[in-house]
Amino acid sequence: MTLKEALNRATSALAAHHISDASHDIQLLLRHVLQITQAQLYLQLEEELAPPEWERFSCLLERRLRHEPVAYLVCHQEFFGLDFYVDRRVLVPRPETELLVEMTLDFARSHSAVRPIIIADIGTGSGAIAISLATNLTNARICATDLSIQALEVAAINRARHGLDNRVVLLQGDLLAPLPGNVDLIVANLPYVMEPELQTMAPEIRFEPREALDGGPDGLHSIRLLLHQAHELRQPRRCLLLEIGMGQSEEVLRLARNHFPEADIQPHRDPGGIERVVTITFPV
Ligand code: SAM
Ligand code: GLN
Repeated sequence: MTLKEALNRATSALAAHHISDASHDIQLLLRHVLQITQAQLYLQLEEELAPPEWERFSCLLERRLRHEPVAYLVCHQEFFGLDFYVDRRVLVPRPETELLVEMTLDFARSHSAVRPIIIADIGTGSGAIAISLATNLTNARICATDLSIQALEVAAINRARHGLDNRVVLLQGDLLAPLPGNVDLIVANLPYVMEPELQTMAPEIRFEPREALDGGPDGLHSIRLLLHQAHELRQPRRCLLLEIGMGQSEEVLRLARNHFPEADIQPHRDPGGIERVVTITFPV
């Protein structure tokens, strides 16, 4: 069978299972098996696929037919222009989270300080946010925390891959508890999906760690605890940036204003028009 025939056959199988982006997914899987670029794939379409490669491709296709996310099948995901190793120990980093990184970079760059800025990424998962920030802020020190030891193992792989062992510290524990001291900024993409909604979302999320997505009955369980801890510990010094889900902004703004009446609290829309980030900026 040629590569072209394999692509056509597999794309039809995915389309028959109502998996969108079938053609895109299949090309990624075949390129992964053959370890080739998109351009090489186009040049080799008429070449034969060797039986061991067809075998490996078929295994991946089977997994995709069961709705396993492509990122887990190829073990990587692009985020903020960087390549991250991912597997089932971590949430697949989402494009909507890039807004949180952009806003954190803007804040850090517009408030230059005499000493290197210290940032905490709470619930770091794959390390996508922490590593994107460290790569783009060459002086910053980042404390990246997670409750999940398994997630931190993946974050450590990505930290090493991006050569950031000296500026990104990985800490295990509940929300702000593992922080060694004061930080300037806190950035957090915590689980915020309403527990009942987990059943109705795309089947792909069944493969992701539940503790990365499940925000309790109203989705705000972890965010509420974080705001409470931040208030108790008087953290951070400058700004707290939170990713939130659709329709959560009103309640998160109310909670934030209760805890921090002195702060400037603002919602920010993502490119799709959804209020996706809340910033809480403290007076200096
Ligand atoms: N920051 C990553 C990203 O944006 O792709 C992962 C975000 S995922 C939505 C939430 C992460 O928070 C998961 O890795 C989960 O293990 C972690 N988490 C959940 N509850 C936590 C808690 N109480 N303390 C620390 N981390 C927590
Ligand atoms: N945006 C993610 C989703 O809808 C949820 C991420 C989160 O809970 N922080 O799949």
